[in-house]
Amino acid sequence: MTDSPKSRDLYERAKRVMPAGNTRHTVYRQPYQVYAASGDGCRITDVDGTVRIDATGNFTSLIHGYGNPRIREAAIGQIETGTCFGMPTPGEVRLSEILAERLPAVEQVRYCNSGTEAVMNAIKVARAYTGRRVLAKVEGAYHGTYDPAETSQDARPESWGDADTPASVATARGTPQGVLDDVAVIPFNDAARAERILRAKGNDLAAVLVDAMPNRAGLIPASDEFLSMLRRVTREMEALLILDEVITFRLGYHGAQGRFGVDPDLTALGKVIGGGFPVGAIAGKAEYLSVYDPSEGRPAVQHGGTFSANPVTMASGIAALEELTPATFDHLESLGEQFAKGAADCFARHGVKAQVTGLGSLRRIHMTDASLTDFRSLFATPDAAQQVADLARAVFDEGVLMAANGLMAFSTPMTRDDIEEILSAFDRALPRVLD
Ligand code: PLP
Repeated sequence: MTDSPKSRDLYERAKRVMPAGNTRHTVYRQPYQVYAASGDGCRITDVDGTVRIDATGNFTSLIHGYGNPRIREAAIGQIETGTCFGMPTPGEVRLSEILAERLPAVEQVRYCNSGTEAVMNAIKVARAYTGRRVLAKVEGAYHGTYDPAETSQDARPESWGDADTPASVATARGTPQGVLDDVAVIPFNDAARAERILRAKGNDLAAVLVDAMPNRAGLIPASDEFLSMLRRVTREMEALLILDEVITFRLGYHGAQGRFGVDPDLTALGKVIGGGFPVGAIAGKAEYLSVYDPSEGRPAVQHGGTFSANPVTMASGIAALEELTPATFDHLESLGEQFAKGAADCFARHGVKAQVTGLGSLRRIHMTDASLTDFRSLFATPDAAQQVADLARAVFDEGVLMAANGLMAFSTPMTRDDIEEILSAFDRALPRVLD
């Protein structure tokens, strides 16, 4: 690893006052963390002055990179007039209008401060509306850190149960058994098996939570057959379908629901829609979100949050979405395709068994040529995950920031030359990983 003395010193200080020296598991690295100082366009400068291309965009949230002039102006304008009020503001109305205009299955929206909370609240809405307890979710899929939603995300061959009855494996130490009892784990892209598991839950099934391209389960797109089975079966069983678009919203002007042609009852949103500020949103059909509405004297589901619908987030989110035109989606799409093709050529040149999954501006590298269809298939090549982590470290030294699991997210300020620069870093880094 390239020496970064200021980061090393910061890490020594941080370890005394912060467990592992930072706040996020996903950015942990050894022998020390590298601390960011500033960002500009698609580049980050660390505290030692090293500049790297940012191919994660704060884990997919910074679709416009750093310092986008319209977002800056919107955020600064709002900071000057007030950062939070304890009253609703026009910004939340406007952002909701934009989301409802763009997302076919969204009529109404409510805000919170993270994707984790968006998923948590969507589950609560589904349970409140149906009066049922069981949540079904895809094995290995990450939806944030609410106990039921993160179940099975760390499932491993020794603990994952058989294919017809995947185990509800706890991710966090401290998750009570009662939580796991109320979660049904379904295999991704296996419509027949998943349907059997859902049907077995009968009148207990409150909702199915699904991401149409779950990152941690491989960034593999859901098949039409799988998604249409989920829609059909949830309707037949009178359970709700929750689509987690916290990451995949960035797959198109009409979100993942437009791209995949799925019609969820509830949608969980986050990341991009906050323009770079903390955000989450529970969106969907008015009929279900009406559980929040106390106006007719019924007992409403409580939902507040001191910083929910924060005006700075709302102003920045509006600017970010207004900057996301169909033309910018075309640009992002072409960057993603250029990367996927270039990476495949690069792997071939080096004789490496590797592949790129994903769509549009979201891509993930896997160091295996095994056929990847679901979470379990990621384990077909035992060393693949470690090799990707090694590659991420090696490209970091070559000037590219990517996630340790191989996830990459491209941003609107990137050009074709930036993608070439990322690919050149791969070319230089791969021989070191293969040694
Ligand atoms: N859902 C998905 C699909 C995610 O990828 C994430 C975070 O990466 C979340 C939910 C949780 O979002 P947050 O990190 O804002 O809590």
